[in-house]
Amino acid sequence: MTTEVSDQYLAGVQRTDPDIFRLIKEEERYQVESIRLIPSENYTSRAVMEATGSVLANKYSEGYPGRRYYEGQRYIDDLETLVQDRAKALFGMAHANVQPYSGSPANLAVYMALLAPGEKIMGLALPHGGHLTHGWGVSATGKFWTSVQYEVDAQTHRIDYDRVREMALRERPRIIVAGATAYPREYDFAKFGEIAREAGAYFLADISHISGLIVAGAHPDPAPYADAIMTTTHKTLRGPRGAMILCKEEHAEAIDKAVFPGLQGGPHENTIAGVGVALKEAATADFRAYGHQVVANARALAAELRERGFDLITGGTDNHLVLIDLTGKKVIGKKAAKALDRANIVGNYNTIPFDPRKPFSPSGLRIGTPSVTTRGMKEEEMRRIARWMDEVVENVKDEDALDRVGAEVRDFCRQYPAPGMAV
Ligand SMILES: *Cc1c(COP(=O)(O)O)cnc(C)c1O
Repeated sequence: MTTEVSDQYLAGVQRTDPDIFRLIKEEERYQVESIRLIPSENYTSRAVMEATGSVLANKYSEGYPGRRYYEGQRYIDDLETLVQDRAKALFGMAHANVQPYSGSPANLAVYMALLAPGEKIMGLALPHGGHLTHGWGVSATGKFWTSVQYEVDAQTHRIDYDRVREMALRERPRIIVAGATAYPREYDFAKFGEIAREAGAYFLADISHISGLIVAGAHPDPAPYADAIMTTTHKTLRGPRGAMILCKEEHAEAIDKAVFPGLQGGPHENTIAGVGVALKEAATADFRAYGHQVVANARALAAELRERGFDLITGGTDNHLVLIDLTGKKVIGKKAAKALDRANIVGNYNTIPFDPRKPFSPSGLRIGTPSVTTRGMKEEEMRRIARWMDEVVENVKDEDALDRVGAEVRDFCRQYPAPGMAV
């Protein structure tokens, strides 16, 4: 928490472009002084930021190690090979492609590799927690391929594996996707693998949200069952923004070809270096403890919220996120999220399964513990946060009350240093 580190790091920006400098510094202060509960965000280490901001950004290296379309790869091939090796070791898969720019293009690459245009994708419906790129209509994945979408159970709000199986056998998709952005329970990857085999489909595990929990041993591992695994690198995995595809050897060539030259040009080797640093950090005992604490914290947050009359989808959580149905609190998701933000608590408004409201103004709130856990907060702090959330939701119209909570939150946050921050 010394000021020199970051000020030195941005000294050039400050000299050249005071406007951008000011905005970065303000965002930095915001990240320090707020309780960040967006479940897809985190704080990377200073080391990850440095690698991502390094001279590697100056390179062009289309192709793969040993097979480049550019000269000048004296160090780049070793770098990318090292990161691939770390990814393979950590996730226990035969092949790794570390070039995808982000999660959405990475999913597109998997479909491009394994499906012909128009073949069928079966994924979890967006309003039920699935991702756009799992075949939702407005996404390229729902336009260039046929898609069928499964839903969570109307009563339990959990995935009903019997119904997934029925749909798979009836629809015969070419690929089945497991994974979500707003599902607070464990995925039974063994079951998904079995269903996919029975239906003659490939199985893609999109573990973007939970990859950090998986490598920490805090969530079951899809590696034994999946044809391909896609993960973003910037969520619980705590790397820079990017993505990776891991797959069985038999799909390696098709996946590589789909990423480049199928969809992308030059890989961002600076990001790949940042991913490498994050993977090294993720292989430590500290990171294992982190992953388990993320889950323990989410459980503590959920328990205290429930105690205070909040209605939770599925009644609680097994992972890093909690999905709240605000209907009983008589406030809509957007209003609650806005009031919370004013009080320096940042979450997402979100649809809930079978939401009677429109996606742009849904009934739910999605929160998670990856960021607060990175700052060293534990169960006791989660209970404190739940009490503040309750106070805010009960006082959404009272700006003085919100500002009072906001000041308390700011003081509280000051006690929990965030990695890489200087304010
Ligand atoms: C975040 C996420 C993605 C997409 O990642 P972007 O980097 O935002 O494109 C894909 N799938 C799931 C399940 C995600 O959570």
